[in-house]
This record gives sequence, C-alpha cells and structure tokens, in this order.
Amino acid sequence: MNKNSLPSALAGLEPEEVWRYFAAIAAIPHGSGNESLLADYVCRLAAAAGFACKRDSAGNVCLYVPPSPGCEHAPVVVLQGHLDMVCEKNDDLDFDFMRSGIQLVQDSGWIRANGTTLGADNGIGMAAALAAAFSSGIERGPLEILLTADEERGLKGAMDFDPSWLSGRILLNLDSEKTGAVCIGCAGGGRVTVRLPISCEPVPAAHAAIAVRISGLRGGHSGLNIHENRGNAIKLLAALLNTVRSMDISLCSLTGGDKHNAIPREAAAVLSLPWSQIEQLRIRLDTAYGALARGCPQEPAMMMSITEIDPQQKAAPCSNFSRMLDLLQALPSGVLAMSTDIPGLVETSCNLAAARMQGSMLYIDLMPRSSHIAGLDTVTGQIQAIAGLAGGDCSSEKPYPGWEPRLNSPVLHCVETVHQKLFGVKPHLEATHAGLECGIIGEKCSGMDMLSFGPDIVDCHSPAEKVLIASVEKFWLLLCGVLENIAKM
Ligand SMILES: [Zn+2]
Repeated sequence: MNKNSLPSALAGLEPEEVWRYFAAIAAIPHGSGNESLLADYVCRLAAAAGFACKRDSAGNVCLYVPPSPGCEHAPVVVLQGHLDMVCEKNDDLDFDFMRSGIQLVQDSGWIRANGTTLGADNGIGMAAALAAAFSSGIERGPLEILLTADEERGLKGAMDFDPSWLSGRILLNLDSEKTGAVCIGCAGGGRVTVRLPISCEPVPAAHAAIAVRISGLRGGHSGLNIHENRGNAIKLLAALLNTVRSMDISLCSLTGGDKHNAIPREAAAVLSLPWSQIEQLRIRLDTAYGALARGCPQEPAMMMSITEIDPQQKAAPCSNFSRMLDLLQALPSGVLAMSTDIPGLVETSCNLAAARMQGSMLYIDLMPRSSHIAGLDTVTGQIQAIAGLAGGDCSSEKPYPGWEPRLNSPVLHCVETVHQKLFGVKPHLEATHAGLECGIIGEKCSGMDMLSFGPDIVDCHSPAEKVLIASVEKFWLLLCGVLENIAKM
C-alpha cells in the first residue's frame, strides 16, 4: 500500500500497519448498504498479493491467506469482521456518507472523527485482520478473512453468506469494544406478532374523546438495557388504563413503540366515554399515575398527558377494551431468567416492543431473546398460549440463533494463556444478551470454536465514537500472540 498515505492525525502511531489499513478504510465510504467500494479495495489487495478472494451478491467478501513459512500444518483460523459502519453525524454538519471519507482527528490519546461516526466499529478490526494477512514477520497458519456486509442493520450479510466458504473451525471475531475482556457468547432472538381481532362500533353522539399519553421514558436497546428495569411505555399505559376499566370506556386507538429491538418510550390511547364522566376519568387517572410514577423511580422524566380531542367515529366497545388490557398485561416483558454460568448475564428476556390498533385488529410485536434455543421456545410458547386464551393468535419469524458459551474451548484457553503472558492477568469472560454475527455463523458452520475481542471503542453508532490509541496496540499484540500460539497448537 502507499507508504505516504497516513493522514496527519495518525502520524507516528503504532502499530503502523494497523493504522495504515484503518486510514485506507476510513477514506472509503462504507455505510451499511454501501460497502461495495470497500469490498473492491479488499479484493484489490488480495489480487495484488496473489491470494484467492470470494465475493457474493449480499456483499460479503472472503480472503484466503496462505500460511507464513514453517506454519504449513497449522490449523486454519477465520478472522471475521463486518465491512459496514453506522452513519451518524452532528445535525449542524454538512456531510455526505455516500461520497466522503471520514475525517480523522487525534484528541487526548483517542482517535475520533470530525462530527461523524468514526467507523472504528468495525474498521479497526478489519484493519487488524488485513495487517495480519499482509504483514510479514507474523508466525501464523492459513487465514480465512470473512468480512460481512450490512451487519449494523440486522446481521444481514452473516445470514446470507455461504458456509462452504469457510474450512477453518477456529474463528476470531474482531468486533468487540473492550480490552481486558473476551466475549464468548450471545443471545438468540425472535420476532413474534400477536393479533387480536376486535370489533369497532360507531361512537354514540354524547361521547367525548380523550387522548392519554405516556412519554419521556428512557427506552434503550432490548438486548443491552433490558436488565436495567427501564419502563416499558406500553406496559405502563396498560397498567394505567386497567385502573379505569370499570368505567363505560371504549377504545378508539392504541399506539406505542416502534422497532423490535427498542424498549418503547411512548404509548398513547384514545378513549371514548360519556361527556359526564370525563372529570371522574381525569381524577382517577391522575391518582393512578401518581402511584405508577412512584413505582418507577428509574424513569424520572416520565410524563402522562390527558388531552380532550375531537369526538371519534368508531371505537372498540368496553368488552373488547377489557380483553385488550388483559392481553397487554399478561404478555411477558423484561428479564425472565438470569444465567447461572456467567454472573450478571441475562439468559432470557422479552421486549413487548410495539402495539397498534389497525382496522379490526390489535397487533402486538414482541422480541424474545435467550442464550438457549429452549429458552426462546419457552417464551414463544408462552406468548402463543396467552394470545390463544385472549381469543387471538400469533405468528413468528424463524429466530436467529444464539451462541452458547464453551468454557472448555481450546481457543479460549489459548487466548487466556496469551493474555496472561502479555498483560499479567487473564481476560474477563463476557457474554452479551444482544445478537452477534457469531451466533449466526456458529449455527451455519457446525463445530466452530469462536470468541471475540477488540480495542477500546466508546460511543459506537454516534458522532462521539472514538478509539483509544493505546488499546489498538494491545489488541494487535493479543491478535498476533494468539495466531502464533494457535500455529503451534
Ligand atoms: Zn460492529
């Protein structure tokens, strides 16, 4: 590669080969869905070195790197990362992620971008894989470098790649964000939608319409934040409305939540009831909300609003309203089980993600997650049973698989040994309740021994994203040490 291409923000940084590849990657636009120029670059590097390279219609790339001299009989190691980055920028910045390279800035021991995401997630991991492939002086066996497309929008590349591409059964995923730790497992997840038929009837002329809204909740990621007991706006609204179900109320609309993987921050219902009962409704809701809010000290910015709006034409009658409330209250939400193997890890959870009344149907989206497929099946079965009892049904997509920790893995033992030798301590073993590409790759390639590590990257997916310069060297030393160690295995 061009030796004069290192931008001034990276001048003099070690390990030079990793930073050079990172600079080259950062200069090429590579947001999710726009990875082809970066894939071209990787294929050009492979061609120049005479290495085989595969590419598929999903945008995934795999590079086949021969062993260094003397390591011909070493096991094949798969180095894996993702090509794409999240494109976020500050509102006041004019920046086109489709055309412009990332501007790198050195700032108090960190590298960040100038008002945009940096793409250290997963640019540093890719750079390290390329440096391991193309730098001389590293003792390593043959490598298969799998770089997937479109990871950030739902692990799409990993879902589409052809498992026959990989002959190696040791996989080092380089998409982690904390030194001193090694990730050894992740949760699987599914998407379930419950449907409850409702009848909508004309609203009597003497009825008023009241909109009740709960907002200001923290929300968050349904895998990474579910153990924090954050408020679920739909669950809280259902609990609130349950306190007034004895009144003569019909339901004109119900909405809340958005994405499967986000804890809902807002939910709203439009109620129809006789004018004469409005004052009583307000008083009862205010009292009930006070009690609800006292039970949610973790949501200090939560608010309820009650607004009178124009009378509505149609509404689901009182009996339907009660059934909907029963269903929303019965469906599981939050942490359902903790792991007994890894302290602090959520094993099974469910996010009641969204609810909406549409025509003569109430739809409720849920996302169960679990470290074990059995846990996922149990929650999905529970949702099905509750939907059936309420008079509805449900449909589910094929869940994506989890990655079960293997505490007796030979590769884990190797990484622990190298880490101890380099840094004087064993790494922390971690697993995540979010989904990772390893879960999908492990299901496709049976017998794969996997783990994940990386440098220190903070505030990923936001313009504040930055990578700690010193941690890139630690990451590189660990990668080289592990490759050398495996070559002797
Ligand atoms: Zn990533």
